[in-house]
Amino acid sequence: MLHALLLALLCGGVAKARAQAPTPPPTGETFSLQLPADGAQEQDAQAGTVQFIGTATVIIRYQGFTILTDPNFLHKGDHVHLGYGLTSERRTNPAIRFEDLPPIDLVLLSHFHGDHFDQLVQERLNRATPIVSTKEAGERLKRLGFTRTFGMGTWDRLEVRKGAARLRISAAPGRHGPAGVAILLPTVMGSVLDFGANPDVPDYRMYISGDTLVYDDIRAIPQRFPNIDLALLHLGGTRILGVLKVTMDGKDGVRMMQVVRPKKTVPIHYNDYDVFKSPLADFAREVKAAGLEQDVVYLAHGETYTFGRTQR
Ligand SMILES: [Zn+2]
Repeated sequence: MLHALLLALLCGGVAKARAQAPTPPPTGETFSLQLPADGAQEQDAQAGTVQFIGTATVIIRYQGFTILTDPNFLHKGDHVHLGYGLTSERRTNPAIRFEDLPPIDLVLLSHFHGDHFDQLVQERLNRATPIVSTKEAGERLKRLGFTRTFGMGTWDRLEVRKGAARLRISAAPGRHGPAGVAILLPTVMGSVLDFGANPDVPDYRMYISGDTLVYDDIRAIPQRFPNIDLALLHLGGTRILGVLKVTMDGKDGVRMMQVVRPKKTVPIHYNDYDVFKSPLADFAREVKAAGLEQDVVYLAHGETYTFGRTQR
């Protein structure tokens, strides 16, 4: 049964991949989002924080913005759906409960999969929360009743304003698995966050990989967005049906660092589900072997990384 499904995935995927033209347009569309000012700008203009909640869920706070990524608040023992009747069991707890979240300006969602936007979040998240994601996820979110969704194609941008604060979110390429197979999984986007009044010379530049492998299109990211200050990399070496690798393992994570060349890297999306087959120790070993230890910040669930504005 599993082998038949695997074969169908592979064959169907390859046939569909041939029919598609994968080249993204050189520049994307620009969307805009105006958020109500709430006085938060004063408090955290200097220092920014990234708090790791678990899976790919982090809370980013900087220059008055509070951003929640890939919200996953299920607990140990709960199951998520990954499509085609496949499920996965959570092995960890989120560092905070959904009910204890601070007020959120927007959700940044790399793709619509159960371990990134789970059933609890689907039920309880306020329908008016702005959600920035892929076009495909945007359509699904609309059907769930969310009223402020931004469906982005590769290199599309969202210009966010909140009082005097500015943030540009750009959609970067991502592919959730090997060519041919990825097409049967949700479309994935990476994202680049440029904070500051001039997003072309940002005060801080952050890259979030999404569930992707390292493939040719990733090389365009550092070309368009050099000098990335911080990268949040989705690792885990996720394997579906036990064999097909659909997210980066430890070795891929180091390759991603070498391609994107961020100043600092925080690994996320590891050890949380039983389909995550590459533990954090794999990445730590590869980082050490590559001599990149000083560039990596390891956060346990609930821990926070604090950063300051970059002088350019
Ligand atoms: Zn995932």
